[in-house]
Amino acid sequence: MPLDALTLSEDLIRCPSITPTEGGALDLLQNRLEAMGFTCWRVPFSEAGTPDVDNLYARLGTAQPNFCFAGHTDVVPPGDPADWASDPFKPEIRDGRLYGRGASDMKCAIAAMVAGTSAYLEDHPNPPGSISFLITGDEEGPSVNGTKKVLGWMKEQGQVIDACLVGEPTNPDTLGDMMKIGRRGSLNCTLTVRGTQGHVAYPHLADNPVPKLLKMLAALNDDPLDDGNDHFPATNLEITTVDVGNATTNLIPAQASGRINIRFNDMHSGASLSKLIEDRCAEVATAVGGADYDLDISVSGESFLTPPGFLSDVVAGAVKDVTGLDPELSTTGGTSDARFIKDHCAVVEFGLINQTAHKVDENALVTEIHDLARIYADVLKRYFA
Ligand SMILES: [Zn+2]
Repeated sequence: MPLDALTLSEDLIRCPSITPTEGGALDLLQNRLEAMGFTCWRVPFSEAGTPDVDNLYARLGTAQPNFCFAGHTDVVPPGDPADWASDPFKPEIRDGRLYGRGASDMKCAIAAMVAGTSAYLEDHPNPPGSISFLITGDEEGPSVNGTKKVLGWMKEQGQVIDACLVGEPTNPDTLGDMMKIGRRGSLNCTLTVRGTQGHVAYPHLADNPVPKLLKMLAALNDDPLDDGNDHFPATNLEITTVDVGNATTNLIPAQASGRINIRFNDMHSGASLSKLIEDRCAEVATAVGGADYDLDISVSGESFLTPPGFLSDVVAGAVKDVTGLDPELSTTGGTSDARFIKDHCAVVEFGLINQTAHKVDENALVTEIHDLARIYADVLKRYFA
């Protein structure tokens, strides 16, 4: 009998695995995967200033290609449990929905991966390659001791993965709506301009930094960075704050600052955008006869794209087989651990509905948990066919 995705979902929700606590979730998965013949490695990491984190890598078979399911068992805190209709760590089914912290993001998807693999193996006991699981306990936290370091460890061990499916919740409304084939990058920048404080009645004795700041922000904001392309919307720059903090009516302030965030597509990199910001500000500084300013730029993630092809066809085909829907290939949304995996192999994301992720009364439709297990089994069938 193949494993049941619902039962395993309930067992995982019972594990109080709030980042960075393992909570028994990795032990449970290791136990189930070993019973299916997988070899398991626990890969804990620690680093000064960040919490210790446990991770799991499991592999069945030694041949290539190696198809990897990736995800996280850690969950965000439930907030006040009294706000929930049922205990966030006691799974409960009401009206065809399974309630519990992590139901959507993403314990039920992990359960579906394991159950789907178990169903696939019933029909195909000797797959022409390997199946693996990369499960981290540090996706919702700083993501320092999780997937990124496990991938480094795998490289050292000669563990090569050839394709990866991340089970983050990707669907807006219905299972089959949307898969992700890439993500936008994100850059933050603080611009600080310094002048000389003075009396507004004697401006020739002062140097007002505010007009210079406004011109620089306008130079950054007014010219679009691109028009987007086939797979990404246009890069978006938002001015998120302008701070002078001057409560005095007759005072020219000494300093003014502003902040921007850029969500960028694959026509840019963090480095190319940093250069563009520096160049546009330098042009303004020259035009106004000089400015004393600095830029504090940090790139929190680069954009990436797995171009539509074999892997996205495999996943989209499996989604269509089970749901009858053609999923949209999207690059919207925030970041995920796929940003680390993309340096190692082709990666796409498909999971449950994301409407209740991180919310009170997080839930998943029981029928969709079973359908997701069927989709993941079909993914393996199509990948190894
Ligand atoms: Zn998640």
